[in-house]
Amino acid sequence: MHKIHELSSILADQIAAGEVVERPASVVKELVENSIDANSTQIDINVEDAGLKSIEIIDDGIGIAHDDVELAFKRHATSKISNPRDLFRVHSLGFRGEALPSIASVSDVLLKTSTGDEGTEIHIRGGKTLEVKPAEARRGTSILVKDIFFNTPARLKYMKTIKTELSKISDIVDRLAIGHPDIAFSLVHNHREILRTSGRNNLQQVIGDIYSAKNLKRIIKIDNQDDDFKIDGYVSLPELTRASRNYVTITLNGRYVRSNAIFKSIIDGYGSKLMVGRYPIAVLNIKLDPTLTDVNVHPTKQTVRISKERQLCDLISNTIYNTIFKKNLIPEVMTRD
Ligand code: ADP
Ligand code: MG
Repeated sequence: MHKIHELSSILADQIAAGEVVERPASVVKELVENSIDANSTQIDINVEDAGLKSIEIIDDGIGIAHDDVELAFKRHATSKISNPRDLFRVHSLGFRGEALPSIASVSDVLLKTSTGDEGTEIHIRGGKTLEVKPAEARRGTSILVKDIFFNTPARLKYMKTIKTELSKISDIVDRLAIGHPDIAFSLVHNHREILRTSGRNNLQQVIGDIYSAKNLKRIIKIDNQDDDFKIDGYVSLPELTRASRNYVTITLNGRYVRSNAIFKSIIDGYGSKLMVGRYPIAVLNIKLDPTLTDVNVHPTKQTVRISKERQLCDLISNTIYNTIFKKNLIPEVMTRD
């Protein structure tokens, strides 16, 4: 047995990166979530070769103060929570302070940021800070990530084709845009525009931008609430379906999440109207008191625990059912405790 020693911070960051940075799409997700948390109104995403060559995110958010820039790349360094109680009422998308150090440990990162006065530029490669210098004072942050996984060849080998990696990036940007119709997003791949949203806070329009405006005629609004949950969104009529589950997006307090239980409750709302193997297009935004959720289940924060989940699922199924079948909305929603 060798003597026990603490891992160097670079090695520890690379280990964390294994969970947070699975592929280029995970980098896009983490960086765009940072831009959203920074109150940006516009987020532009430029990728080359599905992010394997480069990923650039430009936002007009609050920026990072000069003295905080190096700290932002330290593990568990965050501006978003500070005491244990905050963990149970997280309002931001990030809070673990892992994304920037993880990404910088497995790639080449150039970040320029400004809070509106002094700007800062930092260059980090493989977790090593190469340069920190003053930069222009345009409020916001731009980050350029190149050579992803250059120092973790096993992970690089695992990457799929450009087409597959790009579809994963496009998918995550779609979901983030759906969750934030008040932000203007653009996604450009190899100089070709893939998505642009207006940021005019019109969810229906964003759904049209993503799933084609001609489908909007067959997508209807849902809206309901009970004592604990407020839900709204859009669902397709039973005649407009897809062969994949991927057209269902669930957000919880603005966070895109995956949940089999909630997915099933949406399907249940269609009664027996969906053919086997067919799924609706649906966007469901759920608002609830953050103390009713635990988002600290997995590093990517896409899995969440929700208390009173059964009650929520019943609310969703009943709302979709009643809306689709044009029944009068029943104010008292049946719940099973
Ligand atoms: P987390 O998002 O969990 O706090 P990150 O490693 O993703 O951790 O980011 C670390 C910190 O860097 C954030 O808490 C935030 O203060 C700052 N930061 C990162 N990206 C941006 C951005 N685009 N605009 C403003 N601040 C940012
Ligand atoms: Mg983050």
